[in-house]
Amino acid sequence: MSTPLIDCVNVSKTYKTGAGEVHAVEDVSFSIEKGEMVAVMGASGSGKSTFMNLIGALDVPTSGTLRVEGADLSAMDSDSLALYRNQRIGFVFQQFNLLARVDAVENVMLPMLYARVPRDTARERALESLARVGLADRSDHFPNQLSGGQQQRVAIARALVNNPDILLADEPTGALDTVTSHEIMELFVDLSIQGITVILVTHENDVADYARRQIIFQDGHVIEDRINENAVSSKGDAR
Ligand code: ADP
Ligand code: MG
Repeated sequence: MSTPLIDCVNVSKTYKTGAGEVHAVEDVSFSIEKGEMVAVMGASGSGKSTFMNLIGALDVPTSGTLRVEGADLSAMDSDSLALYRNQRIGFVFQQFNLLARVDAVENVMLPMLYARVPRDTARERALESLARVGLADRSDHFPNQLSGGQQQRVAIARALVNNPDILLADEPTGALDTVTSHEIMELFVDLSIQGITVILVTHENDVADYARRQIIFQDGHVIEDRINENAVSSKGDAR
């Protein structure tokens, strides 16, 4: 078998607090193949965000091994981890996290400007990324001139500018109405069909139903890891 894209072996994350230790993620083992679309579910406090932060190298495991394409994240220095985050991971959050004082294209340009990509190149790539999420005609709109769904598309365009292999979305539809949620999920399905591995956290069954695989957390443990044969993402190209 080929190397999985993401391979977690006995991964735990323990936080030390004034009140004692919190076992946010405990002894989690599984792998995710390239191009999979995975919904991570579970009650509030079950460890979903902690797990996403570990995959995105925003945090490091307390114990266990977390490999991405065979490379052990815990063995990387902080420069390599920053490069990994910047080049291989796109993050999408519930609250969009756009800068209010700049327009859509400038918001999408930001990660590239931080990476010192020249402005002209950054602008060109940002416009391509906005076109990819169906917002070519809104590039000069400011966040307050866009609907919630459009703001989330800008955030997704921003997550895509460096052509990441993995998109990590933590409750991406949590601030959106039902119709808009479905539109955003269809966009994630398209991206997954294009080969991007999409891992998203959700509380909602009808959102999770877009994913072919569903991983359920409870108290830091994975209690279920199931294939959803009726996934919306299984339709069309019959995956
Ligand atoms: P979820 O995203 O499923 O709601 P989290 O991963 O945010 O859960 O949290 C899992 C557990 O870890 C919770 O009990 C939470 O309070 C705790 N936790 C998360 N982050 C921290 C932190 N930085 N310091 C201490 N405890 C934390
Ligand atoms: Mg969370």
